Amino acid sequence: MKSHILTILFLLSFAGYTAAQQDTCQRPKYVFYFIGDGMGMNQVNGTETYLAAKEGRIGIKPLSFGEFPYTSFATTYSSSNGITDSAAAGTALATGHKTYNSCLGLLPDSVTAVSSIAVWAKQAGAAVGITTSVSVDHATPAAFYAHRRNRNMYYEIGQDMYRSGFDFFAGSDFLKPERPGEATLYRQTQDAGYTIVRGYKDYQKKARKAERIVMLQTEEASKNDRSAIPYAIDRQKGDMTLVEITKAAIDFLKRKNSDRFFLMVEGGKIDWAGHNNDASTVYEEVIDMDNAIRVAFDFYKKHPYETLIVVTADHETGGMGLGNKDYTQKLDLLQFQKMSAPQYSNHVNQIAKQYGDSLSWDIIRDDLKENFGFWNQVKISKQQEEQLYKAYEDILAGREKSQKTLYSQINNLSYLAKSILNMNARIGWTSGAHTNGYVPVFAIGAGADQFHGRIDNTEIPKIIARIAGYEMKQ
Ligand SMILES: [Zn+2]
Repeated sequence: MKSHILTILFLLSFAGYTAAQQDTCQRPKYVFYFIGDGMGMNQVNGTETYLAAKEGRIGIKPLSFGEFPYTSFATTYSSSNGITDSAAAGTALATGHKTYNSCLGLLPDSVTAVSSIAVWAKQAGAAVGITTSVSVDHATPAAFYAHRRNRNMYYEIGQDMYRSGFDFFAGSDFLKPERPGEATLYRQTQDAGYTIVRGYKDYQKKARKAERIVMLQTEEASKNDRSAIPYAIDRQKGDMTLVEITKAAIDFLKRKNSDRFFLMVEGGKIDWAGHNNDASTVYEEVIDMDNAIRVAFDFYKKHPYETLIVVTADHETGGMGLGNKDYTQKLDLLQFQKMSAPQYSNHVNQIAKQYGDSLSWDIIRDDLKENFGFWNQVKISKQQEEQLYKAYEDILAGREKSQKTLYSQINNLSYLAKSILNMNARIGWTSGAHTNGYVPVFAIGAGADQFHGRIDNTEIPKIIARIAGYEMKQ
């Protein structure tokens, strides 16, 4: 009997050992590379703390990737500054080379092109997808296929995109699809063999016959804002989502090559909300990216020894602090914000237009109650109320002021409202730009144990390439 137990124990431990070996030794066939733009340590810790606070608990409620078994953290400085921008950081995460801020896919000499892990994967026979929640030509996705001195060369970057020959792209739209005297980027992209689909349903209709795909949001959505899909907090029925993008990408890449693919997914608007110092919107964006990661995680559960998922960020945005005075964190208050700061700004402008001279403080106060929970769930000070009232008076008098942030113009009332909510929830912000904070790296699956200790952002694509067996080229 005793020897039987010993045999069983031996077999069990051998099975465990074999599983662990497979976890570390087998090359992943399927690689997921998630990049949360602007998702520093506190954007992740804050989101998990916020989720617990909403349940009335102190502590954290983990995101799916928060529980990945291997973690690391990375430095993000660029070749030109301690504080990187998304172009230099994207280049580091894509190619393994540092460059100067605003530069894509070139060494600091501005001439020498460096290829990305997406190219290495393609050359290794993998189907390749590059996707984002912002425009397809924005810095982070562009770092995987473009070679330009300046990230603002959107038209040329759009051309670099279809010339890459990658299998799947997704994002809101092109930022600059037209140039006088030339065919539009849509036409050029189609001529290069891509099928452009508008939204997830359109993807499902056309995927089977397509050679390569560019998935954009509907033309109607782009008329409203072509620069990005809507923030998760502002989402309306029918808006394209990062979950849909991830599902479509997996589906298409698997059709192209059921044996090998590489997929990059960027949550691009965590950064934009960070530039606005708008914590509710940041956390909802992180949760939304986690939902997309869950799609990959479900895929991993079906192919655990053949899949690698890496989740990281290009830099921190805003210098988000989880505390701004005393010991009374109240992140649960953030749940009462119902719109992003830019969306609330539009909303207030519409109300002002609708009511004109008859716009009363009561109307604005009721609106703030509804969309920020002020006076009801969120107590505000006399001074804060006076600030809001002053902003209302300015609107009424036609001297409405606004704040310009990197990606938004936000009227003063909206800017104040989200600032007051952030202040009262005890969120601090040091900057309207990026910071040099560490970024987290989370990994699960085949080879994930190679992520440990402190690394530099340039190491990440090299480690993935080594694990996946891609040959690195300059
Ligand atoms: Zn940014």
